[in-house]
Amino acid sequence: MSTRFVIIGGGPAGHTAATHAARLGADVTLVERDVIGGAANLWDCIPSKTMIATGNAISWYRRTEGMGLETTEAEVDVAALTERIESIKARLQRGTTKLLTSQGVNLVNGSARLLSAHEVEITPVDGVPQVVHADAVLLATGSRPRVPEWCQPDGERILTTRDCYPPKQFPESITVIGSGVTGVEFVHMFASFGAKVTLVVSRQQVLPAKDPEVAAVLEEDFLQRGVRLLKGARAVAIEREATGDGGEQVVVRCDDGRVVHTSHAVLAIGSVPNSDGLGLEAAGVEVDKGGYVTIDHHCRSNVGHIYAAGDLSGKLPLASVASMQGRKVAEHVMGLERTVHRHLDYDKAASAIFTEPEIADVGLAEADAFASGRKIRVTKVPFSSTPKALINNDWRGFVKIVSDPATGVVLGGSIVGRHAAELISVIALAVTANLKVTDIMESLLVHPALAEALAEAAE
Ligand SMILES: Cc1cc2nc3c(=O)[nH]c(=O)nc-3n(C[C@H](O)[C@H](O)[C@H](O)COP(=O)(O)OP(=O)(O)OC[C@H]3O[C@@H](n4cnc5c(N)ncnc54)[C@H](O)[C@@H]3O)c2cc1C
Repeated sequence: MSTRFVIIGGGPAGHTAATHAARLGADVTLVERDVIGGAANLWDCIPSKTMIATGNAISWYRRTEGMGLETTEAEVDVAALTERIESIKARLQRGTTKLLTSQGVNLVNGSARLLSAHEVEITPVDGVPQVVHADAVLLATGSRPRVPEWCQPDGERILTTRDCYPPKQFPESITVIGSGVTGVEFVHMFASFGAKVTLVVSRQQVLPAKDPEVAAVLEEDFLQRGVRLLKGARAVAIEREATGDGGEQVVVRCDDGRVVHTSHAVLAIGSVPNSDGLGLEAAGVEVDKGGYVTIDHHCRSNVGHIYAAGDLSGKLPLASVASMQGRKVAEHVMGLERTVHRHLDYDKAASAIFTEPEIADVGLAEADAFASGRKIRVTKVPFSSTPKALINNDWRGFVKIVSDPATGVVLGGSIVGRHAAELISVIALAVTANLKVTDIMESLLVHPALAEALAEAAE
């Protein structure tokens, strides 16, 4: 008899685990209450990056001054942009659904919860609840935006990240609360569309967890684009108020007494796990104090055959990591860990920030190496030294490679600049495969290309 594998949640973690496990011979049921593709497709990665792509096109168009074009301004057509976002989401959803059904995955549109360690109650949207036995369960229910008690989002002027693709009214001005990855992406997105943006930064640096040199390039760009940075301030209250002319605005109050008035505000202060109502207690599954399911290096919870992956597992909240966890779970469920299975190393996950310029990094950061006293070699090359940057009319940013001075093995790196999210793949591969700087240096790369800065940094 084949393994009965029930997956709750059809985001990157759930649908990747489902296809992979079905290919390996499991009898897979995938339960999703909204749409296949999950929040990643519906509200997070895909719509945000689609909107940012249009913002980038506007920014790039502005940077064409001096490139032989007559005009350097582009106008946004909000209706066409909305249609584009919806059509990309629909196309991806159709593609993933087709892949799952072609692999024989039993798809249920509904919600599910654990009744015990081996029993899952599935309630289809148009049917009655049924209880199924599962040999293995994957919890992949994701997360949702964190909303603090001092704020009531209304989807009109006080927004969460899920109200923005695009918002009901396009903001003339907006206050972004939170200067982590999502916050700075929203600053870039709205500034590209011409909104006056204020960013509330609780520390003294945007992207507090990132390399200060990387953050400095972004801050400089924001200031050049007229973004107001409110450093060292925490928002403590957000309300709507009437303006004298019969209109409305949003007031954001900060803990140091500063007050910002803008037409809109958006919260980008992290997320909370969708672990409530999942029946975790009934099955004996442990969570940490934030509500995330605690997992081992096979993504197993404390109950051996119940796994958690994606945002619910409290590891790196990235769709790429969620998918890889899903794949590893499928392999473990099907007993492959004894043959071809490699453990997932979260320290080697590449990540990107889709601002303009883009930011990407992977592996060991320079600051972390110094903090731990580890000896490293750091080489940094500005894109301005490459012919392609001059051709592109955009020479912002740099490539930085961190390596082991004794062996030359690449330990990490960061890239700021156009196409950083693509270029980081070279360093990510080197970090994963323990390649040396000489391996990058001796690769015969394309000319002219921004990747030449990688080879130069590896010299
Ligand atoms: C604005 C924003 C932009 C982002 N951009 C990127 C990016 O560019 N790149 C990147 O790698 N990551 C990005 N992320 C992070 C990424 O979206 C998440 O890490 C990813 O979606 C996590 O995938 P998941 O499979 O854990 O869950 P999700 O994608 O959250 O899917 C979980 C699914 O489970 C379903 N579900 C929940 N409970 C139940 C239940 N009881 N029964 C049935 N179904 C249920 C939900 O309906 C949902 O569809 C972004 C996040 C945000 C907020």
